[in-house]
Amino acid sequence: MRTQVVIIGGGPSGLLLSQLLHRAGIDTVVLERRARSYVLSRIRAGVLEWGSVEMLRKAGVGKRMDAEGYVHSGTYLATQNRGFRIDFDALIGKRVMVYGQTQVTHDLYDARDRMDGIVIEEALSVTPQDLDTDKPYVTYEKDGTEQRIDCDFVVGCDGFHGVSRTCIPKNVLREYERVYPFGWLGILSETPPVSDELIYANHERGFALCSMRNSKLSRYYIQAPVDDPLDAWSDNAFWDELKRRIPEEAADKITTGPSIEKSIAPLRSYVAEPMRWGRLFLVGDAAHIVPPTGAKGLNLAISDVHYLSTGLQTYYTHKDQSGIDAYSANALARVWKSVRFSWWMTTKLHRFPDQSAFDQRIQEAELDHIETSVAAQTELAENYVGLPY
Ligand SMILES: Cc1cc2nc3c(=O)[nH]c(=O)nc-3n(C[C@H](O)[C@H](O)[C@H](O)COP(=O)(O)OP(=O)(O)OC[C@H]3O[C@@H](n4cnc5c(N)ncnc54)[C@H](O)[C@@H]3O)c2cc1C
Repeated sequence: MRTQVVIIGGGPSGLLLSQLLHRAGIDTVVLERRARSYVLSRIRAGVLEWGSVEMLRKAGVGKRMDAEGYVHSGTYLATQNRGFRIDFDALIGKRVMVYGQTQVTHDLYDARDRMDGIVIEEALSVTPQDLDTDKPYVTYEKDGTEQRIDCDFVVGCDGFHGVSRTCIPKNVLREYERVYPFGWLGILSETPPVSDELIYANHERGFALCSMRNSKLSRYYIQAPVDDPLDAWSDNAFWDELKRRIPEEAADKITTGPSIEKSIAPLRSYVAEPMRWGRLFLVGDAAHIVPPTGAKGLNLAISDVHYLSTGLQTYYTHKDQSGIDAYSANALARVWKSVRFSWWMTTKLHRFPDQSAFDQRIQEAELDHIETSVAAQTELAENYVGLPY
């Protein structure tokens, strides 16, 4: 088989890239190692920056998001059970959209089907080859038979544990990492959200977040040791701990119920540089990971897709390499600013194991400063709704 661009990974970044390139007349094949049902069962991000909303509309997959998503014009921060609101709309005239990653991925698969896009599921042992030549190819196994696709470019959209990043020689790849000494225990529950906007809570017992997917589906998180066994957290234990960490007003009115999903996620900041090597490009989690505080992971994957899709379009339309040559630098400049913001939100809101009473007071003072300073709120709002592309 031959195509122009082989995309490894059928998560949100791979599908969105394939959709945008296909609409621009560029052929792609997506190789996904899992079954579609598995990809669509993953519960992950929920908040879209406005740039992401516009990218999904541009890809022709915004209809359901616009009909069913929730536009939020602000968010709540809380410290020691007392909350205050950051009004994005009043501060900078911008908003975010609450629409789950699962739904985004669903819409992208539907769009790929409608356009007869090629997405090969359960493609095993995917191996990119000859990436430092102008004739790269990718081999994989499907139903026990080895297959080969020749192409112009290979794009690694295969997440943090994918194969693509490992193809970059060790003497070229630079890695930057911080692993946080805690995780997020999250539950999904078929209950109405406690607040019409998200609540990020700093508390001496640890961080908590009240989020949602829609008016009947809530997503809540509490900071927890990453190696806690899940069965150590009954639903009741979770709700009790959450209520201790959020403002009393919210704790009093929260509707609890059985969890329909429960998981613990580790928190990590990680960046790999460069995001291009020869004919290989890295996109999304394949190149960088952020802690979920500040909701940047999926949004960064989408901004990478913006830079790469425009670069590839310029290349195929005008035989102009400038866009793809600038991809790594342009994407990384934005990545690092979001990595900084997620790190900042994480360090301001979580309880660290070696944190002293002094450190806790500093965190409280920072949040107090944000509450009383329009400049500080504006800075937070600009980063939260998403920096420009
Ligand atoms: C538990 C969890 C919770 C999260 N919560 C949030 C959140 O609240 N907010 C937020 O902004 N972000 C969150 N994120 C991050 C966000 O989900 C990711 O940033 C986003 O999924 C990145 O999209 P991606 O397409 O780059 O990678 P992925 O979604 O990881 O997709 C990669 C795809 O590649 C496939 N793949 C992997 N290896 C291979 C291979 N060798 N061959 C073929 N296919 C392969 C995988 O099966 C997968 O489908 C969360 C992530 C996790 C893991």
